[in-house]
Amino acid sequence: MACPKKKTSHRKQHQRRANWKADIPKIVNCSNCGAPSLPHIACTSCGYYNGREYLRALPRKQRKATA
Ligand SMILES: [Zn+2]
Repeated sequence: MACPKKKTSHRKQHQRRANWKADIPKIVNCSNCGAPSLPHIACTSCGYYNGREYLRALPRKQRKATA
């Protein structure tokens, strides 16, 4: 393991961390139902991904009533 020669000052630490930013997640429309969903993840409203059903998801209204 590399050993740091000098202690990182508070200023340098803060300058480095000042560039940490949260980015807005990418949102795509589901190819099956058209609802907005996260890319590379099965749609939360219909459960389809890449033309195949992966999740047996209930529609939003039914989900709230049962859970
Ligand atoms: Zn969908």
